[in-house]
Amino acid sequence: MIVRVLGSAAGGGVPQWNCACANCAAAREGHRPRRTQSSLALSPDGARWLLLNCSPDVAAQIEAFAPLQPRRSRGTPIGGMLLTDANVDHLGGLAALRQHGEHGFIVRSSGVVRALAAVQPAFAAFTRAPHRWLEAPLGAPCDPEGGEDLVGNRLRVRAFPVPGTTPGYDGRRSASGAVVAYEIAEPNGATLLFAPVFAEIDATLASALQSASVAFLDGSFYSDDELVAQGLADKRARSLGHLPVGDWRGTLARLRSRSRRTIFTHLNNSNPMLDPNSSAAAHVREAGVEIAYDGMELTV
Ligand SMILES: [Zn+2]
Ligand SMILES: [Zn+2]
Repeated sequence: MIVRVLGSAAGGGVPQWNCACANCAAAREGHRPRRTQSSLALSPDGARWLLLNCSPDVAAQIEAFAPLQPRRSRGTPIGGMLLTDANVDHLGGLAALRQHGEHGFIVRSSGVVRALAAVQPAFAAFTRAPHRWLEAPLGAPCDPEGGEDLVGNRLRVRAFPVPGTTPGYDGRRSASGAVVAYEIAEPNGATLLFAPVFAEIDATLASALQSASVAFLDGSFYSDDELVAQGLADKRARSLGHLPVGDWRGTLARLRSRSRRTIFTHLNNSNPMLDPNSSAAAHVREAGVEIAYDGMELTV
């Protein structure tokens, strides 16, 4: 499968409209690349595409990548979306796709995420025809195409719950399926793991990490207290549902036994890893882990 990083930033992007932190200033001044909000596009053949999360930047992301653009007067090569959670930076792009005409999307998410979306006017339309919003069974394989042939009936998809809560607007409730990760496997066994949000690496996520050929992981924050330390917000990474990358018991420490390709995505603009000259970025490089960027492409 072909994988394209449409966006590599956490909510707000880099630069974020109301932020003048060092990272946002560097991107705004053109010293470092800009980043849109996190999403991947994947395709078995380069013709039909599935989005992994649908960010509020989706319209600009489509314009930046010709294979996602329409090929006739009205239409789209995007067959559907797999959603990890109900945070607005992960499904808010649906509101930008409401001129869909006859085209229906197959949306997949957990039941918890579907229930949260169904009561919001901007997203409720996607639970009705011509769309289908299907529940991804947790831990069991599902058909990403809902029985249709949108992206070629050959990719096997499995959603599984990861530690996390519902979004702030829902009170950060604990519920199984509030946040999920996806494993997408080729018939030959090559597997992509997409886990852009998790509060902890539990046994299920650890085992998925063991087997994935390529893993995209939550790189939101390098340290638990970086928002507080930089005077940006009074919140900690863990309280926002993100396991920090560089913490002594954070993600990098848990990746020591993994030798295959690993890529951090969903970087918050406070994250020192965004500066390639920082010790945080060096720590990631020394661990053999990559940092995603908008426009990154690979084959799994
Ligand atoms: Zn997010
Ligand atoms: Zn900033």
